[in-house]
Amino acid sequence: MIEFRNVGKTYPDGTIAVGDFSLVAPSGKTTVLVGSSGSGKTTLMRMVNRMVTPTSGSVWIDDLDVATVEPVALRRRIGYVMQEAGLLPHRRVIDNIATVPLLNGVKRAQAHAQALELMELVGLDQAMARRYPRQLSGGQQQRVGVARALASDPNILLMDEPFGAVDPIVRAELQTELLRLQRELHKTILFVTHDISEALLLGDQLVILRAGAVTAQVGSALEIVSNPADDFVADFVGLTGERRLQLRRVDGVDIVVDGAGRPLGQVAPS
Ligand code: ADP
Ligand code: MG
Repeated sequence: MIEFRNVGKTYPDGTIAVGDFSLVAPSGKTTVLVGSSGSGKTTLMRMVNRMVTPTSGSVWIDDLDVATVEPVALRRRIGYVMQEAGLLPHRRVIDNIATVPLLNGVKRAQAHAQALELMELVGLDQAMARRYPRQLSGGQQQRVGVARALASDPNILLMDEPFGAVDPIVRAELQTELLRLQRELHKTILFVTHDISEALLLGDQLVILRAGAVTAQVGSALEIVSNPADDFVADFVGLTGERRLQLRRVDGVDIVVDGAGRPLGQVAPS
């Protein structure tokens, strides 16, 4: 479980990125923070691994206040996937994936064997192990980023717009892969996106944010689409206006369709 207790962040230049935010992200579930650019999503996420220090409040992992954990040790226990995979350009794929285990003192042969298994897990051909990041497509780089984040077998995975920089078809593939992975792994995932369709697809719990990380609504995709808290949420989700999203039940599965009846994706079961 990750818990934000009344956290706030005012940057040194006076920007109030987060006013007063509280949330419980349950263990083994995917919680998606969704909001417009600048709403404070990255700031919140980085509080978990102490890349950002809150100016008020605290962040807890189970019964541990993260402020009491040494940052380097903390980060080795938390997987982190960034928008631009953030791979080390001069290291081969296999060494990128094995980075944290190697830092943790795992023997090279063992770290490499494990990295090859992870490549398989995230759907990467093991023949790519010897390549450098620039020799991979954007989607493949993101898979390497996910494999690297999983390498230390962390309970927690932080994913900051991880599929934002790839084209829509690859993004859909990566989203499907993440759903499959999560069915196997049951990590506590905190996922950030500005894309409501992605949030509806991936989130067991969605947190819709306004500017300043003000919570507009927390709930499952089904709860939010069927019962938006207010006009802001309805507009953001696209229930009004041009998109006019609706829920439709097909063969016992809830899917989101747009105003023209085009299916946009399945809603995460609640
Ligand atoms: P999001 O990830 O939702 O786009 P961020 O958490 O990155 O939002 O940013 C929230 C707000 O804080 C924005 O107004 C942004 O400009 C500001 N901000 C982010 N990082 C810094 C920083 N290091 N210094 C000053 N302001 C910042
Ligand atoms: Mg961000």
